[in-house]
Amino acid sequence: MNQIHKLSARLANQIAAGEVVERPASVVKELLENALDAGAHKVVIQVEAGGVKRILIRDDGTGMGKDDLPLSLSRHATSKIESLDDLEAVATLGFRGEALASISSVSRLLLSSKTSDAEQAWQVVTEGRDMDAKLSPVAHNQGTTVEVRDLFFNTPARRKFLRKEKTEFNHLEEVVKRQALSRFDVSIDLTHNGKAVHMLRSAPTLRDKEQRVATLCGKLFMENAVQIDVEASGLKLWGWVALPTFSRSQADLQYFYVNGRVIRDRLVTHAVKQAYRDVLYHGRHPAFVLYLELDPALVDVNVHPTKHEVRFRDGRLVHDFIFRSLHKALADVRPEDMGGANINAQTITSTADGVGESFTGS
Ligand code: ADP
Ligand code: MG
Repeated sequence: MNQIHKLSARLANQIAAGEVVERPASVVKELLENALDAGAHKVVIQVEAGGVKRILIRDDGTGMGKDDLPLSLSRHATSKIESLDDLEAVATLGFRGEALASISSVSRLLLSSKTSDAEQAWQVVTEGRDMDAKLSPVAHNQGTTVEVRDLFFNTPARRKFLRKEKTEFNHLEEVVKRQALSRFDVSIDLTHNGKAVHMLRSAPTLRDKEQRVATLCGKLFMENAVQIDVEASGLKLWGWVALPTFSRSQADLQYFYVNGRVIRDRLVTHAVKQAYRDVLYHGRHPAFVLYLELDPALVDVNVHPTKHEVRFRDGRLVHDFIFRSLHKALADVRPEDMGGANINAQTITSTADGVGESFTGS
């Protein structure tokens, strides 16, 4: 005879956590996204022992009120969407309402927050199988601090998959780097075991942005990069692409953002590859930091729990636009520029001609 029973809230959350919380880096990704969604101007990230022992993220965003705090830790609770229509035009990084519930079910989580109009800040922790939240007053400025200790302390099977401290920290730093490249307006500090790793000030001007890219991707990349800024058919593509002379043996310096969200996408990869096809040696990989901006309604971000993938409504248009913009940018570089490493980033601003014609490659 079958004996069906409902899973406890904690167990259900732990199962869901399997999808979103793989390692300390995934915790940082989710918490950093929350801070950015809350409109933070400054985010401080403190990490101990690769993030396994402790991750603390403090932001100066909108904060949460007393009643919202316990809600934020329960599953499928979000302030970011209310309807399917909202989902189709979602502009925030989060919307699934799963991260805090998942993280708090596999760690010791402490959440403190204060809104601008509240007199008192509050702190919340979850306890037991039903994840009841315990509230208490705390001292805190406007914004939110999330502290995550002892990741996977109660899920030994997951803990087994954690790697050396250094490896975990490298993953975590990569996550911070990706976000830092997408939000030049936010200052971000990252420390590991008390040592400063990144102290990134907000970067309002083009020069500041290039400085941040150089800090995160290396001076050589920036010195060999062409800046592009192209707009056509409601699509905008901007950023930096390295000249073919600065190619890589691995595809490890490739950052592509769609409406601020870093993604990996076959269509995008293909379009970029095509653009470099005639100028790169076989087996070499281009380096780029690129931002595609388009109407959020034209791209579906709800494809995967970690939201690393997207689906374009008009993939052909997007492919063509990326290919043509990059191809032109690379072709416009004067041949005498191709040899040296002493080229400063040049600006190529143009409209992509003929966007909308179909592409035949796939
Ligand atoms: P999601 O981001 O998908 O909405 P989360 O579980 O990450 O789900 O967060 C749940 C809710 O908690 C958010 O919708 C938001 O309202 C609130 N929240 C989480 N982190 C912050 C933060 N740093 N500042 C303000 N509100 C936050
Ligand atoms: Mg979130």
